[in-house]
Amino acid sequence: MQTIGVIGAGQMGSGIAQTIAQHGMKVLLSDIDRPAAERGKGAIDKALTRLVGRGKLQANEAEAILARIEPVADLAPMAAASFVIEAATENESVKQAIFERAGKILGADAIMASNTSSIPITRMANWTPDPARFIGLHFFNPVPVMGLIEVIPGLATSSDTIARTRALAEELGKEVVEVQDEPGFVVNRILVPMLNEAVFVLGQGTASIEDIDKGCRIGLNHPMGPLELADFIGLDTCLDIVRVLYTTTGDSKYRPAPLLMKYVEAGWLGRKTGKGFYDYSGEAPVPTR
Ligand code: NAD
Repeated sequence: MQTIGVIGAGQMGSGIAQTIAQHGMKVLLSDIDRPAAERGKGAIDKALTRLVGRGKLQANEAEAILARIEPVADLAPMAAASFVIEAATENESVKQAIFERAGKILGADAIMASNTSSIPITRMANWTPDPARFIGLHFFNPVPVMGLIEVIPGLATSSDTIARTRALAEELGKEVVEVQDEPGFVVNRILVPMLNEAVFVLGQGTASIEDIDKGCRIGLNHPMGPLELADFIGLDTCLDIVRVLYTTTGDSKYRPAPLLMKYVEAGWLGRKTGKGFYDYSGEAPVPTR
């Protein structure tokens, strides 16, 4: 059975781990410590229980999927992995420390991939011992549901690494688009400035939270409005991405909306903290402005 390491057991890391285990592979799941990795596995347990409740999965299948996910305290056991996917916080120094440590542990043939939303792949590859075996593998949220993966080779990524990464993505049942290593890749380059613009529109008092979302849901035929989608992604992650677009291009069209910064400073990060543009503590989400 192929073993895949997943570093970071938050929203994305736990979704990636669930998807891999659902496709019959073994997962080593790490975070800052073992309790954090176990919380990630707990979130997967809840997600699988919901699927069982809705009749989409048999209870014994859910048990088998969970049994393939092993929370680990440290990266050391990942020496056994053929592929390691990093999905930790979108912060360069966090990721650099992870890659420097993982580089000392991983096998000579293992591929290291990052699920970063916006940090250049070529820059991160340079933090690893073998940039030819480093690649971007950008999943979409929620990972078990969303059908797309962006595969992003860095300048030094080998054709063998690209081929093995595409093969893994396809084994996970995802459609692949191959994208050059440019800020925001394709989907976020287009999406995140739109979400940031929605926060400018809100901050300028042009319309209410509900009307901005309703306008885009009905007027653009989008399944979610931009503010509810930003809450779903995580406002800190949205801010990190728009900041990377701004600093890497120097283009003022990517300047972060002041109100987005304010929400992040308040710790109102969206669904994951129970409050963002909406408050999720009650039965139905309630706008916070
Ligand atoms: P999150 O905040 O839910 O999870 C991040 C996890 O990383 C946390 O559990 C945190 O404890 C852990 N972490 C922090 N430092 C670590 C370390 N040194 N070692 C191991 N784990 C560490 O964030 P997320 O939304 O899951 O985002 C993770 C990554 O995925 C980011 O790079 C983000 O840009 C990317 N991404 C996010 C989305 C999205 O919609 N949220 C979509 C695609 C890609």
